Amino acid sequence: MQATQARTQKLADNLRTIISRVSAVPTSRQVRLVAVSKLKPAAEVLALHTATGHRHMGENYVQELLDKAAQLPREIDWHFIGQLQTNKCRKLAEEIHNLWAVESVDTCKKADALEKGREALTAREPETSKLRVYVQVNTSGESSKSGCAPTDAAGIARHIRTACPHLTLQGLMTIGSIARSQRAFSEENEDFVLLAATARGVEEELGLKLPEEQLELSMGMSSDFEQAIAAGATSVRVGTAIFGERRPRQGAQAMMDVVTEQKA
Ligand SMILES: *Cc1c(COP(=O)(O)O)cnc(C)c1O
Repeated sequence: MQATQARTQKLADNLRTIISRVSAVPTSRQVRLVAVSKLKPAAEVLALHTATGHRHMGENYVQELLDKAAQLPREIDWHFIGQLQTNKCRKLAEEIHNLWAVESVDTCKKADALEKGREALTAREPETSKLRVYVQVNTSGESSKSGCAPTDAAGIARHIRTACPHLTLQGLMTIGSIARSQRAFSEENEDFVLLAATARGVEEELGLKLPEEQLELSMGMSSDFEQAIAAGATSVRVGTAIFGERRPRQGAQAMMDVVTEQKA
């Protein structure tokens, strides 16, 4: 299946609109746009990539990412941004050569499993680069959100730097509360403020050299990426505003997730 010319045009226009909105926000940091393609057909990702050259794409489900990565060009820089299960980490890090980053690492165990996978891939293919990882922080305190407590971020970050030679600590990531994401631009978003403060704490505790080792901040989605950039984001993850509304996952696939999450 190929995306129609009209659909391709629409995706490219949406992307250009978001890029210009991103560049309009004053910030001292470089900002990367990750186009979140979860639950959208591989043909749409290919159409967007081919029409615009855009490389950074985000996915939430391991099997969906494995399938898309196998079909689509190696030039795509994949970001895994979904809830991460320890038993899927190794496969993710070992099988997707062009996995650019895993943004949802919230335990040392998951970092260790990613490390094993990347180590195995590097043994087979010595040119493999280190896998970038972000420590996901639960800044809203909502129990439904994954991510470590802000006070645990430094410990996990240190573990990645000292015990995982095939990983590289790229920064911190948060999802944040939906309610806060729907506020006006002028209002402060506590999730973004807390992630930035947590990053400064981690930089200090680990003695990172600034500015070279300054941590990246992955925060902001379709409804609030401009606020996120104003608060210091270096990576924004935008899905709906580029690809349109998603249909919820249904039937067998959604059931499978429930089953594997309970086992994990
Ligand atoms: C789905 C998702 C996004 C994109 O959300 P939109 O509101 O569609 O832009 C960003 N980050 C994460 C972690 C997501 O799961």
